[in-house]
Amino acid sequence: MAEIFDIAIVGGGIAGASVAHFLNGKRSVVLLEQESALGFHSTGRSAAEFTRRFHSDITGRLTAASASFMMAPPVGFTEVDLLRPRGNLLIADADKAGHLKDVYEHERASSPEGASPVELLDVDAALEKVPFLDPDWVKAAFHDPDCWDIEVENLLQGYARSAKADGAEFRQDSRLLNARREGGHWVLETSQDEVRARTVVNAAGGWADVVAQVFGSAPLGIVPHRRTAISVKVPDYDLGRMPEVNEIDEVFYFKPDAGQLMISPADETPVEPHDAWPEEIDIAYAAHYLSECTILDVTHVAHSWAGLRTFAPDRLPVIGPSATTQGLFWLAGLGGYGIQTSPAVGKIAAALLLSAELPEGICATGLRAELFSPSRFEG
Ligand SMILES: Cc1cc2nc3c(=O)[nH]c(=O)nc-3n(C[C@H](O)[C@H](O)[C@H](O)COP(=O)(O)OP(=O)(O)OC[C@H]3O[C@@H](n4cnc5c(N)ncnc54)[C@H](O)[C@@H]3O)c2cc1C
Repeated sequence: MAEIFDIAIVGGGIAGASVAHFLNGKRSVVLLEQESALGFHSTGRSAAEFTRRFHSDITGRLTAASASFMMAPPVGFTEVDLLRPRGNLLIADADKAGHLKDVYEHERASSPEGASPVELLDVDAALEKVPFLDPDWVKAAFHDPDCWDIEVENLLQGYARSAKADGAEFRQDSRLLNARREGGHWVLETSQDEVRARTVVNAAGGWADVVAQVFGSAPLGIVPHRRTAISVKVPDYDLGRMPEVNEIDEVFYFKPDAGQLMISPADETPVEPHDAWPEEIDIAYAAHYLSECTILDVTHVAHSWAGLRTFAPDRLPVIGPSATTQGLFWLAGLGGYGIQTSPAVGKIAAALLLSAELPEGICATGLRAELFSPSRFEG
């Protein structure tokens, strides 16, 4: 009889890899990824930002609970720092200058614990940080030091490497097609072979509702939303030291990315799960926003891409066992923050799978497992 794994994880993005890591070898684990590489979909297409501000209460707590891992991962987890200081410059035009000052006052008064203070800047000081901003457009700005770039590939591979060292099997090019119940466990038919497991973790990102239906489980209304990015060459400026720049209401944002400037029009279009690609209109918006607030001549888009940000109806992650389908565990709906919250999300999922208490660092932020339970959507 073939091996019966304790846990099969469907999805080799940051969610699947992080829970594989935090299970710490305490269960036999196999991870199934339909693509030939881990992180091929959302995880490999993010803006790689770790920021402590501008979140909903719960996302802020998940982020706070993830900071210590990101800043000091376990010895041997990675060769490089997972976070690199970037800073965030919030900008507004004349119409929104008053609004930006209100946001600044609010942030000053309600900074997360241990956060560095935000700093109101005049236009000259903003231009010192980002010399190609257009002073005819930018009329107000403040700087948030608590924003970092995440080394996403190192984080993802670190999770995968340590999980494998603990005995987990990672099978790429292995797409879950069907599932049937047999003798108290699941038999998973994949594009390669059959896999048996007592519990299946649904970490399929944009496909989470599709994968649930393979197990006869009702979809929860977890919807992928497309977000677009373009990159342009900016040869006359040293991008390395500039902060990320966000329009005050996140109508758009831009930041250095692999020697070029990445711009997103912050689009959020509901779509069917698919290998996302950018629409011309969103590429045009990205170029338009950059032209409007800078003096750059945006005539050539070097590269464009899109990815899926996948939300449950209340925009909180869905983590926990299904109340309706035996042996099915949800780990989905990570929205626009799945990379930066992956340490906390992975720890919560692992604790639930191991029937253990949530770790102290999670409880200290006031998070409870019930907040994320799939039962909030299961009929
Ligand atoms: C443009 C953009 C910018 C973003 N910026 C940030 C940011 O700055 N900071 C941040 O923290 N987050 C950001 N995000 C969000 C972040 O990328 C996601 O929250 C995160 O990657 C979700 O991870 P995941 O593992 O749930 O999904 P995915 O990475 O999509 O992984 C799911 C995996 O499941 C696999 N799968 C699906 N169906 C099957 C099947 N039947 N069989 C086998 N495998 C299957 C897929 O192939 C996929 O690899 C951004 C996202 C986008 C698109």
